[in-house]
Amino acid sequence: MDIKALIREVPDFPKPGIQFKDITTLLRDAEGLRYTVDVLAEKCADLNPDFVIGMESRGFIFGAPLAYKLGCGFIPVRKPGKLPAAVHCIEYELEYGMDRLEVHQDALHPPESRILIVDDVIATGGTASATAKLVQQTGCTLVGFAFVIELKDLNGRKHLPDVPIITLVEY
Ligand code: AMP
Repeated sequence: MDIKALIREVPDFPKPGIQFKDITTLLRDAEGLRYTVDVLAEKCADLNPDFVIGMESRGFIFGAPLAYKLGCGFIPVRKPGKLPAAVHCIEYELEYGMDRLEVHQDALHPPESRILIVDDVIATGGTASATAKLVQQTGCTLVGFAFVIELKDLNGRKHLPDVPIITLVEY
């Protein structure tokens, strides 16, 4: 199946010069959605994770069904102030200014857990790299990353630790 054909490219969103990769057109296609999650699961199975971590908010959309398929738990990484219990947090740099991600302190447990990080897109790699640091702070083992889309020119993978990086389509 041609996943790329189901991804809509929207020019100049959210600001001029950005070619936004809109996955809502993929998500609304029943076969496309199933195929995407199935292929991600096939490619990630050998990594043998105990938990899938997804970043708010599009990482949740692919991360939760992937965790279900792999027989893992799912852990959400969220923007500040959304998680109700005690959190670990990490600050990371954006193009302008800083942002912060949080995860429940008791979620990344026990420390020998094997963690797979999932998001829809890897662009600059800032979000995935910050999430990896959050995982590594807890002593858990990061076993890999999975993204539906990789924006090759931005070379986000150079910011990621040396673990397998699974991607389905490249631009
Ligand atoms: P990154 O620059 O890798 O930290 O990407 C930050 C987040 O923005 C990712 O979680 C992506 O979901 C999203 N993102 C970045 N660039 C794009 C793009 N061109 N189209 C769609 N989503 C994007």
